Amino acid sequence: MNLLKDSFGRKFPYIRLSITDVCNFKCGYCLPNGYQIDKSDNRTFLNINEIERLTKALSELGVCKIRLTGGEPTVRKDFFDVLKVIKKHSGIKKTVITTNGYHLDKKAQKIKESGLDGINISIDSLDRETFKYITGHDRLPEILEGIKKLQELNFKNIKINAVLLKGVNDKEEDFKKWAEFIKTNEVDFRYIELMQTGDNLDYFNRYHVPSSKFVNYLNERNWIFQTFGKDAGPSKNYINTNYKGKFGVIAPYSKDFCKSCNRLRITAKGDLRLCLFGNTGINIRHLMQKDDQTEELKDLILKQLNFKKESHYLELGETGLTKNLSTTGG
Ligand code: SAM
Ligand code: SF4
Repeated sequence: MNLLKDSFGRKFPYIRLSITDVCNFKCGYCLPNGYQIDKSDNRTFLNINEIERLTKALSELGVCKIRLTGGEPTVRKDFFDVLKVIKKHSGIKKTVITTNGYHLDKKAQKIKESGLDGINISIDSLDRETFKYITGHDRLPEILEGIKKLQELNFKNIKINAVLLKGVNDKEEDFKKWAEFIKTNEVDFRYIELMQTGDNLDYFNRYHVPSSKFVNYLNERNWIFQTFGKDAGPSKNYINTNYKGKFGVIAPYSKDFCKSCNRLRITAKGDLRLCLFGNTGINIRHLMQKDDQTEELKDLILKQLNFKKESHYLELGETGLTKNLSTTGG
């Protein structure tokens, strides 16, 4: 039973857990200068024992899906051990990750063997030069090769996310390339509208484009809007029977976006974040230190939920504690 409910009647069966702030990419909208150590905060990232206790408590609160994110979650040396511990001991039914796809060609086999239930891969462009321009890395071929390997291994539930950027990847020819890709690949592709964070105002002003640009493209081409499922997340999905994959749009500035919020976030240093763009972020790590603290930890999380606000105020430029999404996992 899901015990995680807020005062607006929303339920939270889904947790995003960041397991590291470190990232090896330099995406212009997130970490344009690459990962920098935060000298004002010398706390380490949650260790595997803390993660085990936390995920067990979350499972007892009714969480049925956890997404590991970062930073780049796969740069953690014990990444596969963390996966194993959650899969084996937490009781959470589905474990999925969001990754930039670094070395995916080499990791595909191990990912399949780990029993991971789904993977979101960030690919901002199918054009190699554009991909390099956005991320600072010429790694598109190894990521696409990794996807091919996962498919050969019969790995299900592959999603691809791209941040929509004005004049960079928002042309009709970009949309067409993705349409060709999902025609033959059973992969969901979603554009995320660029979000303003504490660090990226100039970039945001330069590159933000409303996601309606892509939605118009879909509407003009017989893509059918799929109504929300019971526990659907924020992606609005579109289907077309001639295509194996689906299209989707994540539009955080849209009216009612927060109504479908079904997730809480926990940072790599153990802060509970009720909203990606909120100003509250209490630390719950002290209750992950011993096995007999589970009840106290569950209690604290439940109490904090009462403070979750109805909506973010992103449209007013209020980005909350989020300097960039590498600390909260997007
Ligand atoms: N490093 C992994 C990756 O890139 O997939 C996981 C962490 S990353 C912060 C999670 C997602 O957030 C990525 O899909 C990324 O494109 C997206 N993201 C980061 N900054 C964003 C921003 N300012 N606006 C919209 N999406 C953003
Ligand atoms: Fe790294 Fe992901 Fe941020 Fe890109 S979006 S810099 S891959 S954390």
